[in-house]
Amino acid sequence: MSVLRLALPTPLRRLFDYLPPEGLSAHSMRPGQRLRVPFGKREMVGILVEVSRETQLSPAQLKHAIEVLDAEPLPNPALIKLCLWAADYYLHPTGEVIASAFPSALRRGTELPEPGESGWRLTSRAQGLPDGALSRSPRQAQAIELLGDGKAHTARELRDAGIKNDVMRRLTERGWVVPCRVESTPDALAATSGHELNAAQSAAVMAINDTLGEFHAHLLEGVTGSGKTEVYLGAIAACLGRGQQALVLIPEIGLTPQTLSRFEARFKATVCCFHSGLTDRQRLDSWAQAQCGAAAIVIGTRSAVFTAMPRLGLIVVDEEHDASYKQQDGFRYSARDVAVKRAQLERCPVVLGSATPSLESLHNAVRQRYRHHRLEERAGKAVLPELQVIDLRRKPLYGGLSEPLLQRARDTLSTGSQVLLFLNRRGYAPALRCHDCGWIANCSSCDARLTVHRARGQLRCHHCGATEQLPRSCPDCHSDALMTQGLGTEQAEDAIRAKLPEWRTLRVDSDSTRSREALDKILHEVSSGEPCILLGTQMLAKGHHFPGVSLVGIIDADAMLFSGDFRGEERMAQMLTQVAGRAGRAGQPGYVLLQSHHPDHPALQAMLQTSYHRRALDLLDERGERQLPPTGQLALLRADCSDAAAGEAFLTSLRAHLMPTLPAGVQLVGPLPAPMHRRAGKFRWHLLLQGGHRSAVRTASALAVSKAESLRAPGDCKWSVDVDPTEPL
Ligand code: ADP
Ligand code: ZN
Ligand code: ZN
Repeated sequence: MSVLRLALPTPLRRLFDYLPPEGLSAHSMRPGQRLRVPFGKREMVGILVEVSRETQLSPAQLKHAIEVLDAEPLPNPALIKLCLWAADYYLHPTGEVIASAFPSALRRGTELPEPGESGWRLTSRAQGLPDGALSRSPRQAQAIELLGDGKAHTARELRDAGIKNDVMRRLTERGWVVPCRVESTPDALAATSGHELNAAQSAAVMAINDTLGEFHAHLLEGVTGSGKTEVYLGAIAACLGRGQQALVLIPEIGLTPQTLSRFEARFKATVCCFHSGLTDRQRLDSWAQAQCGAAAIVIGTRSAVFTAMPRLGLIVVDEEHDASYKQQDGFRYSARDVAVKRAQLERCPVVLGSATPSLESLHNAVRQRYRHHRLEERAGKAVLPELQVIDLRRKPLYGGLSEPLLQRARDTLSTGSQVLLFLNRRGYAPALRCHDCGWIANCSSCDARLTVHRARGQLRCHHCGATEQLPRSCPDCHSDALMTQGLGTEQAEDAIRAKLPEWRTLRVDSDSTRSREALDKILHEVSSGEPCILLGTQMLAKGHHFPGVSLVGIIDADAMLFSGDFRGEERMAQMLTQVAGRAGRAGQPGYVLLQSHHPDHPALQAMLQTSYHRRALDLLDERGERQLPPTGQLALLRADCSDAAAGEAFLTSLRAHLMPTLPAGVQLVGPLPAPMHRRAGKFRWHLLLQGGHRSAVRTASALAVSKAESLRAPGDCKWSVDVDPTEPL
């Protein structure tokens, strides 16, 4: 007897056995098909992972699946293998991992749309009637005229023409239009040719293209503005030329429209884009295009690494060092690391690109596990910017800005260039204090101060989202001598407007760009090239190409200097190098001014005197000496509870259970309180597993997870495991 082994979306760390639906043979089924099955009193949609001859269940316990939902498997075998690997590696329930590889509509059991986009065509009834006979509503008439060319049009085209869905619904009710699928036209490749590549770019493209059809990991380390995108495009062209698909991962940011248009302009191919702004329906349609092979290029953020693609030939991870590739809740995985594994399973090359590669990737390149390609100069006529520190000590400050920085900004603007000012803290000020009694506005659910948002008249917690009215007087002593402490973008904006009133100031942070359109509008304005001041948080640091910016000012270079985390300096160097890299990307030379109260701090001096590359190699040595990643391995068990002591007790007991069977070479550290001990009302505890060998730490973490499952967590205590954690410890 054969059983179907299914992944179901439950938090249980196992697969579930079923008999095939009545009348069907298990051997007619293939991994990757969805089935509807009974589960307790409910029904669930599961994915077939394997057909097996063995089962732990007795015949009486085995139930029949209800129905098979797909005629063909949705993901290819390599993608299922990838999910199984990820579940095993990240010690996460298989069902939840596999679920993350599907759009939510498919998880609910919706039929896979046929290839093509959803769209509309005229019915035969509506064809041939004289103009104007059909409708007096101008929108309806417009829709009919558009469809009157006899072709089907996509819903997107109609929306772009200003025709809303309810117009189409009314036309459907009248029997004049019907929904249909619109096939995309077959791909003609290489629409336009790009820049003529320089020697370093060509060498990288050739080396990557040489490995098409087999697994190889490439680290493309190219300074900011060195033309890494041209290298990706060159490799993608070769990949598409072989009739294969390319997957491009980008960080979670407003980059999407820019990147998308750059790819669409280059190739006359279907490009599908996955980002957080899609509706469920759009996501499903794009997924179907990728899954059937119609989409030549898939671009997406983190979770797109699991997109089903039958002919995957190349994976690119742009800005591979970016923290957003790590999912920090639920299924905690690194999309970059999953991408490398996927390339291995699909036997294709993967390109990790960055100006500031993660120490993990650099380590692999140094040990020659990855091929290393370096672009050490900027493309075209651009040169790397010059860095200089402004010693802030004893200098008067206006909203955090010193006179030398303001003067340079004025000079730059009056030559017609743009200025970018970087301050990685949104809101008006990070704290509110009473001058008379010393009271500080703290969050009632977190160990954190509330941020002052003056424009909205609010205090906000940036950790749990709590908001309060901005008080007029001190709640403790009723004095009205409340004062803000520290500096946020809102306050800096006020100061800049006051000091440089004749120039436009554009603020870019997650408050000012709540809607997608807002950021697009700002980026559009910047691209006009008119002199202006761009002020913003790390949203500005990532990947943007601002040809008009020739001065970058880092308002608070000290903000990241005293991090207690072992990755602190790596992060600081990446962030500052990336921000600095926005300067002077076109013809004119760029300058970067860093404001600091600690101009002699070794980490700042390192920024000025050596390249990121050199500094990163030194940091890599330090990590090695301390057995920290990437040399050493880490896994973290967390426990979050409303009770202050329960999490500690749980992890202490887990530790005691673990000790007797702990593999040699693994140390347990903790339980220790997390750096922010209380967050959103939960007390958070860590138990860290650390060791020099991946396999030993792996064995220990798997053991810890099975022990944790068998121990009863007290009260509302929630535990989780984080393999290769990246959050500060
Ligand atoms: P990176 O991603 O490495 O920061 P980009 O790919 O955005 O850099 O390229 C920076 C700029 O240089 C872009 O405007 C791009 O069009 C231009 N560029 C890239 N390659 C070349 C080249 N070979 N010759 C001239 N300009 C180039
Ligand atoms: Zn007070
Ligand atoms: Zn809070």
